[in-house]
Amino acid sequence: MPTLTKDDIRAQAQTCGFDLIGFASTERLDAVLPVEDQPSTISTTLTTLLVLAKHIPNGVSGALDRRQKQFSCGQIAQVIETASRELGYWLEQNAVMAATVPALFVDFTRETSAAANTPAGQGSRLLRAAAVESGLGTWGLNNAVLTSQYGPRVYFGGLLTNLALVQDSPLEKELCLGFEACGRCAAICPEKAIPLRAAAGADLASVRSLDEAACLKSAHPFGPDAFVEHLKATFAARGADQKKLIDSTSTRELWQNLAVLRQGAFTGCMECLQVCPVGEDAAAVQASPHRLQDFPAGIRFHREAGSIAVESVGPQWRRHA
Ligand code: SF4
Ligand code: SF4
Repeated sequence: MPTLTKDDIRAQAQTCGFDLIGFASTERLDAVLPVEDQPSTISTTLTTLLVLAKHIPNGVSGALDRRQKQFSCGQIAQVIETASRELGYWLEQNAVMAATVPALFVDFTRETSAAANTPAGQGSRLLRAAAVESGLGTWGLNNAVLTSQYGPRVYFGGLLTNLALVQDSPLEKELCLGFEACGRCAAICPEKAIPLRAAAGADLASVRSLDEAACLKSAHPFGPDAFVEHLKATFAARGADQKKLIDSTSTRELWQNLAVLRQGAFTGCMECLQVCPVGEDAAAVQASPHRLQDFPAGIRFHREAGSIAVESVGPQWRRHA
């Protein structure tokens, strides 16, 4: 059987429905990730990680209703799982070993929170790091991965393989415009989870961060962490208060997230993705009448001695509420 080339694999990934594909070295990923995310804990023989990305449709990024968007993005995550499995079987038919890497699954034997799957349920820390290592994109201010084609409006999937191919290299130039030159993701975030203040002139690497625990509240409004909190409150309550918690919107929402939304439990917020100006799709997304209302007064910065702060405006759903 002839040996597969990168072009063969890229073409098949596109046939399976992926928009971007990168080839990352697990050795390099081991060197940059905390031990719980290192791919060598999954396999020491599958040393090439195919990182796969699917674009969030412009119609979803440009829309207003956040529940519809949560559902649509959860569907994209489901499609990625199915397409990864199909690509994996195709690789195995071509004498390659392949194992699907879960994009949103959290190993709760190692972690007590799903916070690593933030921001915006874009993908696990491992897959986002693989996207950066393989040159699909670079880290944004908010720890999302920005691609030149679609900015951060992508979800990631992956396959660990024993392919013996030359792996791709990281991009040399940052795609994120940086805090002072942009700051849009920080200004829109409903949880103030992205830095709102920085030293004047600070470089991107020193400002970039995400308060994952804060992001969770909007990104996974009825995800695993919210589920535990609801159970704790329900068991601790007594009498009428307990009945009220059982017969509540939260109980119904949690059931719906488990049974209907499924992967959508992790895609509750995409505010920082949809306002990012990076990407060939950004002009179309920003032209949406809904996106034009994100910053009706523009982005406002306040300068003080030695520091600069961006004004938090929050998302439209919170402003209008
Ligand atoms: S905008 Fe939403 S997804 Fe992005 S960091 Fe804030 S809460 Fe998380
Ligand atoms: S919105 Fe601006 S600051 Fe935030 S990630 Fe995108 S380019 Fe960077």
